[in-house]
Amino acid sequence: MAKRDYYEVLGVSKNATKEEIKKAYRKLSKKYHPDINKDPDAPEKFKEVKEAYEVLSDDTKRAQYDRYGHAGATQGFGGFNGEEFEADFGGFGFDDLFSSIFGGGRRRDPNAPRAGADIQYTMTISFEEAAFGKETTIEIPSEETCDTCHGSGAKPGTTPETCPHCGGSGQISSEQRTAFGVFVNRRVCYQCNGTGKFIRHRCTTCGGSGKVKKRRKIQVKIPAGVDDGQQLRIQGKGEPGINGGPSGDLYIVFHVQEHEFFVRDGDDIYCEMPLTFAQAALGDEIEVPTLYGKVKLKIPAGTQTGRKFRLSGKGIKNVHGHGIGDQYVTVRVVTPTNLTEKQKELLREFAAISGNQPDVQEESFFDKVKRAFKGD
Ligand SMILES: [Zn+2]
Ligand SMILES: [Zn+2]
Repeated sequence: MAKRDYYEVLGVSKNATKEEIKKAYRKLSKKYHPDINKDPDAPEKFKEVKEAYEVLSDDTKRAQYDRYGHAGATQGFGGFNGEEFEADFGGFGFDDLFSSIFGGGRRRDPNAPRAGADIQYTMTISFEEAAFGKETTIEIPSEETCDTCHGSGAKPGTTPETCPHCGGSGQISSEQRTAFGVFVNRRVCYQCNGTGKFIRHRCTTCGGSGKVKKRRKIQVKIPAGVDDGQQLRIQGKGEPGINGGPSGDLYIVFHVQEHEFFVRDGDDIYCEMPLTFAQAALGDEIEVPTLYGKVKLKIPAGTQTGRKFRLSGKGIKNVHGHGIGDQYVTVRVVTPTNLTEKQKELLREFAAISGNQPDVQEESFFDKVKRAFKGD
């Protein structure tokens, strides 16, 4: 699907001030917040608004977006951590070309705040848990800011110094003159790994990385009615941000186990119940299992195999709060096997009285059968 223009998403003009952008974002994010807006499109809209704001509220990103559109904005802020280079072809405009491919190829400030990564977590739940919802706690392995050094990586009482190798930029440039022009090669500084800092006395807890591996416990409320493959977004529970940037989001993808008796289609539940020939012919009242306990179902006399009965309101609660589904019961008449002599005798007697013509209301079906034999 084509991405919508970020200005259009926020409903502001191209010359909108930062204040106007912020105001529009506040209004729209409130409007589409999935906790408030139960419309199925709301999470997607919310994400779109958030993304637009993330770009337009940042001067550098906004300038890049104005110049290169979505390609510039998305390519420019990804994790392009390999070699970055730009070429100076003396006015041929190749600089622009490389800029658009590598998101500007410009120096990124290693101290700039960066958002944490989103995490995806697959949760397997039972048919019933999906139907009724559940509160549970999950454990997610994650990198957390080191408590000892508060993320600086330096021993308490000391502070990181500027990396002497790259001068704090986190990158090292080298020029290469060729027949086609001057290539400027930029690499991530191998001394500081792009952080721009030199730590003389490393924190002993984290070894200088500023991060420790932990398992994070997160409370999850599985909404009633969730279906296989649907996902739940928990804002701010992804990887922590870098240099004070916002945390990423946690996406929980649900895998719903199959039920041995029920089959689900949307909010409706389907099942099959066996009937004896006598029950089908004479009528009966049978008990049918539902998610809400046993329910009595009246089988009228003369019920054919394959007939479908509806148990209203015995399906699954809609995850977006749009009512509740039904349960459909298809009956199957089971032909008896392993008959006793007495049973066989009675059936022969029955057959002798009724003859070999099936007595049913569904004439059309037997008309078709008759027509099919006419060619013989
Ligand atoms: Zn530490
Ligand atoms: Zn360095």
